[in-house]
Amino acid sequence: MPRSGLFRNRIEIYVARLAAELVPASEFDTPVLPRNIVHAIRNVGRLLSKKDGNGKYVCTLCGKKGFTKRGLYLHLVRMHGDEIRDLVSKEGERILSKKKVCIE
Ligand SMILES: [Zn+2]
Repeated sequence: MPRSGLFRNRIEIYVARLAAELVPASEFDTPVLPRNIVHAIRNVGRLLSKKDGNGKYVCTLCGKKGFTKRGLYLHLVRMHGDEIRDLVSKEGERILSKKKVCIE
């Protein structure tokens, strides 16, 4: 996997867009990333936000509440970039290892 800063930065941006529901998870795809990473981005994106009773978003990584879509997106990219990349990388590996088990 390439390790350029640009590439790494994109991962949290993709995840944050999904978490903030700026893009539906089912529509997210990109030809520049391996399939397991695309799936990992979708899975992690779904986990990182929930809505409170007022329809505002809650960050599930730190519990901060009251975000608009745009607010949650910016919060995730600025505050949780490292954690998000870590989560995606672990989830990507988990998906790969699961696939290997299925093939064998
Ligand atoms: Zn947070």
